[in-house]
Amino acid sequence: MLVSESEPITTTATSRQEFASVVAALEQATGRRLGNPQRRQCFEAFATFPNGVREVARTSLEDARVNPLGLFSWRIANGWHELDPLPPAREQATMLDSPSRRREVRGRGSCFVCERSSEDALWQAGQWWCSDHEAEAA
Ligand SMILES: [Zn+2]
Repeated sequence: MLVSESEPITTTATSRQEFASVVAALEQATGRRLGNPQRRQCFEAFATFPNGVREVARTSLEDARVNPLGLFSWRIANGWHELDPLPPAREQATMLDSPSRRREVRGRGSCFVCERSSEDALWQAGQWWCSDHEAEAA
C-alpha cells in the first residue's frame, strides 16, 4: 500500500484526534476555537511532546479565569511543554504512596499519633508522623 507523500509520518490521524480532544476542553472553556497559526504550532508541539502539551492544557484550564485557550497557546509558544512538570504538592503525598514509588516524603502535616501539626512531618504508610513519633511509623 502506498502512503501519500503529502502526509508527514509523525502526524498520524491518531495524534491529530488526541490533539483535538486536548484542545477541545480549552476551546469549550474559552468559548472559541483555537485558530491558526497557533493551532498548527500547538499541534507540532504535541507531536513532539504529547505529555508536556497535555500538562500545559491541564494547568492552563486551572490557572486561567477568562481565557485558558489563550494562556495555553501562549505557554506552548514559550516552550512550557518542554519543561518537566512540578513535583506534586506535599498535601497530595498520597499519590506518591504507591509500592513502585515509595520514598521518604516530608512536609506539613498532623501527626497520626498525637495529632500535633508539624512543619517537618514524615509521610509514611499513608499517615503523617511528627519527629517524636516517626520511629513508630511502620
Ligand atoms: Zn506525634
